Amino acid sequence: MTAMSDPTTKARIVVIGGGFSGAVFSLHLARKATRSCTITVVEPREKLGAGVAYGTPDPAHRINVPAARMIVFPEAPTDFDSWFRSGAELVADPEALWSDGHAYPRRSAFGRYIAATLASAAASRPDITISHHQGAATAVRRHDHRFTIHLEDGTILDADLIVLAVSHPPPTVPALVTTSLGTGPDIIADPWAPDALATVTPSDDVLVIGTGLTMADVIASLGQRGHHGNITAFSRRGLLSRGHACYTDPYTWFGANDPPLSALALLRKLRALIAEAAKDGVPWHAVIDDVRAHGRRVWRSLPALERSRLLRHLRPFWDVHRYRIAPQAEAAIGERLNEGSLRVLAASLRSLQRKNGKIIASLRPRHGAEGACETVTVDKIIVTTGPAHDSVISANPALSSLSKAGLLTPDPLGLGIAVNAISEVIAADGSTTDTLLVAGPLAREQYGELMGLPQVSAHALEIAEKVALWLVLHR
Ligand SMILES: Cc1cc2nc3c(=O)[nH]c(=O)nc-3n(C[C@H](O)[C@H](O)[C@H](O)COP(=O)(O)OP(=O)(O)OC[C@H]3O[C@@H](n4cnc5c(N)ncnc54)[C@H](O)[C@@H]3O)c2cc1C
Repeated sequence: MTAMSDPTTKARIVVIGGGFSGAVFSLHLARKATRSCTITVVEPREKLGAGVAYGTPDPAHRINVPAARMIVFPEAPTDFDSWFRSGAELVADPEALWSDGHAYPRRSAFGRYIAATLASAAASRPDITISHHQGAATAVRRHDHRFTIHLEDGTILDADLIVLAVSHPPPTVPALVTTSLGTGPDIIADPWAPDALATVTPSDDVLVIGTGLTMADVIASLGQRGHHGNITAFSRRGLLSRGHACYTDPYTWFGANDPPLSALALLRKLRALIAEAAKDGVPWHAVIDDVRAHGRRVWRSLPALERSRLLRHLRPFWDVHRYRIAPQAEAAIGERLNEGSLRVLAASLRSLQRKNGKIIASLRPRHGAEGACETVTVDKIIVTTGPAHDSVISANPALSSLSKAGLLTPDPLGLGIAVNAISEVIAADGSTTDTLLVAGPLAREQYGELMGLPQVSAHALEIAEKVALWLVLHR
């Protein structure tokens, strides 16, 4: 336990990262705190609450679950759905409404909802100041019972407690791309950068590295821009994210039983439950959603070795079933596959070269014979391999300064930052403090499922409740 440096002043809480996690932590703290405090959110983006996922202005980027499942307030789970349907948002985006009655709004709409919700939470608590310091933290230093946060504009902020909420770094460009081609306008390394696809002309042939959710975003965006060139997308297994299915009654096996104790036992149980559910006409989606709802318990029941086995062998399959795509994106992908302008391959990159203004890629099919490579000639390469969480500490100066001081370590599974069961950062000497916390996906190693909105939201609430208690205990 740490004491505040001066009990007569308001506690100073600094949140590094003002995406969804940082903003929702702040709004829940404003609702839960019984003591006054100041909350400074350090975030380079213009608006709080959007982050990587909901900061995209691209109209083709939609939330990948129905709006009714984008839960911020457990007591009002459909608040976003109601907000979206009752205001100007649905009028501006009628295509959000799908034939099954669900709404799949643009991700930017959810960003606006979070910003508006945060603003009203802040307005309701005049004793709690929530401010946005627009900029990036470049270093964090510890001084006995307080911290200083050093920003790129030279500002130094004092903090009694820090919440790290910096989650998603850009993807890592495969080494072969960099060594063979270097950089250039024909390589789109960060598909989330503003106007990332601006250099792709409608007739360009494109090689997409990765076949997950970001690839789905890219196909949908290219479609909206009138792109009609050929697209070859590949990943090691060539698995595509699945779409949604309608079901009404939730499946409840994992909620009612002890979870399996090994990765293999979990896989067998899942297969058996899916087969059993199918007999009753219940889609596999319901079984996967049951595991997800109990993800923390399922994950924590597994010994460390089994967690790493699960990540190594099952994660690619889990990811494509658990992270589904909006029906609008599914339709865009289906259309391109049917017309033959999109091919999805299970393959790996063997070589790359530039010739006469084109890129020539050699791909080795996953089950092909040694030497049986396919050559693809394209105009652009787009990297959609997802956030490079395993290198987030070295990529983020605020985290690397903490790491260099021995105050923060990577988790053993390469998912983010090592934290204890209550999200306190674990230092190099194994110690923890209740004043350095992680909110959001970088704490995943302790939680298993901590990526989709409902879990990230529940986690931010938990951290806010913990900090509200800390305010009481340390005033
Ligand atoms: C592209 C994408 C789409 C997604 N779509 C969905 C979806 O449709 N449905 C769903 O349920 N889940 C979705 N998710 C998952 C989920 O919603 C996210 O995990 C969640 O938004 C995490 O938000 P965050 O604030 O923790 O992280 P981030 O969005 O990464 O926000 C972190 C913020 O920290 C800031 N930052 C970084 N470094 C610094 C620094 N040094 N100083 C100050 N600020 C810093 C960044 O600018 C950023 O705004 C998506 C995730 C991604 C990546």
